[in-house]
Amino acid sequence: MNRALLLKWKWRILMERQAIWSKFLEFRYRKPRLIVQATKDVTSNFEDAIWWRDVISNDLILDRFEEGFPGCVKSIIRNGKNILFWHSVWLGDHALHVKFPELYDISTRKLCSVSEVRQVVDGSVFWDLDFLFAADSNVIAAPSASDLHSGDGLVSVLLQLHAVNLQHLRDCLIQSNHGQTEEEDQHIRNLNSSGLYSVSSITSLVGNSKDRAWNNNLIKQLEVIWNTNLPIRIKLFAWRVLTDKLPVKEILIQRGVSNFPSVGCVFCSNHQENSNHLFFDCYISKEIWDKVLAWLGIESNLSFLDLLSFDAIQLKVKKVKVKDRINVIWVATLWSLWTMRNAVIFQDKLFSFDEVFYNILFLSWRWLSLSHSLVVANFYKWFKNPLNCI
Ligand SMILES: [Zn+2]
Repeated sequence: MNRALLLKWKWRILMERQAIWSKFLEFRYRKPRLIVQATKDVTSNFEDAIWWRDVISNDLILDRFEEGFPGCVKSIIRNGKNILFWHSVWLGDHALHVKFPELYDISTRKLCSVSEVRQVVDGSVFWDLDFLFAADSNVIAAPSASDLHSGDGLVSVLLQLHAVNLQHLRDCLIQSNHGQTEEEDQHIRNLNSSGLYSVSSITSLVGNSKDRAWNNNLIKQLEVIWNTNLPIRIKLFAWRVLTDKLPVKEILIQRGVSNFPSVGCVFCSNHQENSNHLFFDCYISKEIWDKVLAWLGIESNLSFLDLLSFDAIQLKVKKVKVKDRINVIWVATLWSLWTMRNAVIFQDKLFSFDEVFYNILFLSWRWLSLSHSLVVANFYKWFKNPLNCI
């Protein structure tokens, strides 16, 4: 994905809080709106998805913009919950970690929000700077007054410098006179605050990127999946398939993190493993789809493109009620193929066509039962004639 598009995502994450994907991000990642305002040195987490790591690591520091992406955003403080104390530009023209690098360096709360530092006591604002240096193990705690007198030599100088910086920071905060309110913070583009980058360089980087990543059809499918009564991890799995973010071999190889002995599809061995092949184009998967479609009373052969979305399958189903539930069967098919693929790779299991098919029927029955959609909650009847059950 190109960098302008990733940057666009940062803007969108900050600005579009009501979008369905925004809610997804809130669920999946801790405080995404705060994280995108930080520089990547404090946000990298190798457990996160590749896409998310790409978004947050695209902080523009490499482009010699002094403060990176956070420096391109001017934050207007209200309740302070969505503004990073150190990284966002909310007090003056620069982020506080640029203004007070020594303090930032020893802060144990590099990703805290402004609201965590600003307290209101008896109606007046109090800046709890001790919070920024709360003693965690292995990290230097803020010096106390007695420390300043007990130290000597270099330690003493550092401690005094720290005290001076701390007082400077406290003065800046008090002068800022930011009162407490429950309104939402605001973020606006801040292109003119530094001579280090030009307006045209940023706008060409950000403004030229249209939303090419997700088309309307895909967004609609993602919404349908999100609103379907499925376990959360299954929804996430389906989202990854739809957005091509599943860690299949082809993607892992591109990222240089694969140590698979073979790059081939575990079902047929004839093709490099990517999502489209594994789920829709492999002849083994197609046989599974054919069996599922026959079970649903669909005679016609569906193409690879038809299978990519559940819309085309829904059009073929004759019974109206069933149409709404096809997406559950569609997800169950993908999930059953994926779990079989993983078992073959990681547990040396032999591929079993019957087991995949059974799992599709069983999982779709169980998931539909969860939402009380099944008229007859009996797996045997579901197995025999699904069209009569929903
Ligand atoms: Zn294959």
